[in-house]
Amino acid sequence: HARSERLPARGFSRADQSALDRHRRLDSDLRQALSRDQLRLLFQPQVDLSDGRIVGVESLMRWEHPELGLVSPAEFIPLAEETGLIVELGRWILDRACSQAVAWPVPISVAVNVSPVQFLRSDLIASVEAALSRSGLPPERLDLEITESSRVTDPSRVHDVMWHLQKLGVHLSIDDFGTGYSALSHFRDLPFDMVKIDQGFVRDRKSESDRVLLAAIVELARKMGKQTLAEGVEDAETAAILRAMGCTFAQGYHFGRPLPEDALIALLLGQVEK
Ligand code: C2E
Ligand code: CA
Ligand code: CA
Ligand code: CA
Repeated sequence: HARSERLPARGFSRADQSALDRHRRLDSDLRQALSRDQLRLLFQPQVDLSDGRIVGVESLMRWEHPELGLVSPAEFIPLAEETGLIVELGRWILDRACSQAVAWPVPISVAVNVSPVQFLRSDLIASVEAALSRSGLPPERLDLEITESSRVTDPSRVHDVMWHLQKLGVHLSIDDFGTGYSALSHFRDLPFDMVKIDQGFVRDRKSESDRVLLAAIVELARKMGKQTLAEGVEDAETAAILRAMGCTFAQGYHFGRPLPEDALIALLLGQVEK
């Protein structure tokens, strides 16, 4: 059966093989990416819709692979989640984001994506505490973006971890709100501060029913006493519609792409002068 090792199943094409080869390659290289300093954080502005000012940024990871070029987090994060490497990666991101943000000229908030796997497998609370104390960043400037996941099968654990994080004083956001499978009653019971409305709802507002859905999400969050941030805002018209709906914050190419730190600092300095 030696043959079945390389050609696992009938209908397994050459394209499948090369995808598998890339997968294996990235998997083994990702372990070294950290020690070889190939990972970077970019920062995408988050603005207040009432005046367009930057109030925070989201940290987004980039991997500069020496041979394959820039690898998207959409490709390597799921891989790191599979292997458990996300725990180590997650600690690195928290440390980096906090230590960079503490030196910025304006005390804006910094958001860090937390993988559902980190919730299950690592001591997330200890990692957050360590990143805060090492950097000296005030907890209220750190925003953790949490996604719901079918892998997180223990809602009481999620609730527990979120409760502890909130006790530390960090800000909690539900990422990609509306795309998960959870019942709304699930959210009613979770401690969090902000709803990040998924780009899907923000960009597909061509039909009346899409607009109704978007408005309903904004309204629901408001009535639950949560802040709202719309993702994927790509034009002024969308920003105006969201503002009229009562959405507080926004993020998207219209306000700024994910930027290297020096470009972000230049932008913040420009804002101070105004
Ligand atoms: P996400 O958390 O939903 O992040 C938003 C994604 O939308 C980012 O893609 C961002 O660059 C992109 N985006 C922002 N504004 C616009 C816009 O106006 N139009 C369009 N078309 N796209 C926009 P990115 O940077 O490729 O990240 C993809 C995903 O990878 C993220 O989705 C997040 O789930 C994950 N990710 C990125 N960095 C990290 C990280 O440090 N840790 C973890 N756990 N996940 C990360
Ligand atoms: Ca996010
Ligand atoms: Ca998102
Ligand atoms: Ca996402």
